[in-house]
Amino acid sequence: MILVSACLLGHNCKYNGGNNDNAAVHGYLAGKDWVCFCPERAGGLPAPRLPSEIRDGKVYSRSGEDVTEEFRAGAERALAFCKSHGVTRAILKARSPSCGVHAVYDGSFTGRVVPGMGVTARLLAENGVALMDEEDVAALTDEAK
Ligand code: SF4
Repeated sequence: MILVSACLLGHNCKYNGGNNDNAAVHGYLAGKDWVCFCPERAGGLPAPRLPSEIRDGKVYSRSGEDVTEEFRAGAERALAFCKSHGVTRAILKARSPSCGVHAVYDGSFTGRVVPGMGVTARLLAENGVALMDEEDVAALTDEAK
């Protein structure tokens, strides 16, 4: 079973109220078993909401509000969801402070990216879920052509 960031499948849970619908992810999932989830919505945050970034191990919204607890709650709910659905792999949204797999924004809200993981991605990886982001999926799809 594969967990997928809900925004990659067109759910309007992104901070700006939109989504990150991704054709490569849709294509990759054809014929596979998957479930989708948004950790930030599950952690109690609304959509739309202010964007957030990780700084010094905590998560702050662009207005400076500490939203670390909401992000942690969302991550715990994502992990519980994975356990109850037999999830072994996940496809998560690149660079998100929840879902980023290889890199995240650096906390300055200037668009700079640093190596690291989102809060949910880290918790899932620590619990044995194998992670890819949508860019890994697109690369796999390209290789298969
Ligand atoms: Fe998408 Fe993850 Fe952000 Fe939810 S928390 S909108 S699933 S990147």
